[in-house]
Amino acid sequence: MPPNHSPALIQLQETLNGIATDAHSLYGQGKVASYIPALAQVAPRQFGMAVALVDGTCVSTGSAGTQFSIQSISKLFTFVLALKLVGDEVWQRVGREPSGAAFNSMVQLETEKGIPRNPFINAGALVITDILTSRYAHLDTALLGALRRLSDSPDLNWDMQTAKSERDTAHRNMAMAYFMKSYGNFVNPPEQVLDNYCRQCAIEMSCSQLAQATMFLANGGLDIGPQAQSGEQFLSADATRRVNALLLTCGAYDAAGDFAYRIGLPVKTGVGGGIVAIVPGVGTVAVWGPELDAKGNSVLGAFALEQLVQRTGWSHD
Ligand code: GLU
Repeated sequence: MPPNHSPALIQLQETLNGIATDAHSLYGQGKVASYIPALAQVAPRQFGMAVALVDGTCVSTGSAGTQFSIQSISKLFTFVLALKLVGDEVWQRVGREPSGAAFNSMVQLETEKGIPRNPFINAGALVITDILTSRYAHLDTALLGALRRLSDSPDLNWDMQTAKSERDTAHRNMAMAYFMKSYGNFVNPPEQVLDNYCRQCAIEMSCSQLAQATMFLANGGLDIGPQAQSGEQFLSADATRRVNALLLTCGAYDAAGDFAYRIGLPVKTGVGGGIVAIVPGVGTVAVWGPELDAKGNSVLGAFALEQLVQRTGWSHD
């Protein structure tokens, strides 16, 4: 915390510290993701939390500086890039309804003719990565460039081992890509899109970096990070409002309703154990705890966000 911190900031720091202490009592209630072999190696009992406020201040607790695999949180960034590039055209290829099914489910794809329910489940994210693969010769560098700038972290990277580990075992995602191709909803070779998808999921960021990188969503689309100098409209205010609506309704897989009830904020979760939450007009929150519940969401992360909104009164409106 900076030396000239205000009483409100000191209180927020104390709140975070208290939440961290309480969260530790939940260790052992979840399991680290193991279907991607590299993720199974992560030590389960870890917790970090960072809050970035729109005035530029940031408070954090625990392992908020430790980088982890962002996994599905990358879907939020690729979706924003696709919206910036093709706008409403994305809706010809992906829906905007909660799926009510597991993040990697393919059951709806057949009845809905290869159009995934939303951009934040695997099938939808694969379509988004397909759109971006058509636009960028090197999607991995383009995405990293955007994230490095938004988070003001020039060293940000993806982990080669995690990407390879997922790519070697991505049979279900590959099957979904081919299935969508059979309906004409996939343009590029599935192998090429899967390469890009596994790299985006393997990007490593800390809670502090994630909170910073999502700040534009709390700020009407304006990037106020140090590299944006006087502030740059990264996403239009209208598109920002819509992204937040989708995060509120579709950001937590088939637990989106439960998250909206318990936390009431636009969120995006990932099987690396990270969750980002947007508090429009106030700031962003990133939490991390690798132990996941049965739906693939961080046990400690969801608990911490629930505690934070209860103690601060923060909400999506
Ligand atoms: N890379 C993961 C997968 O495709 C992301 C899943 C997630 O974080 O929900 O299975």
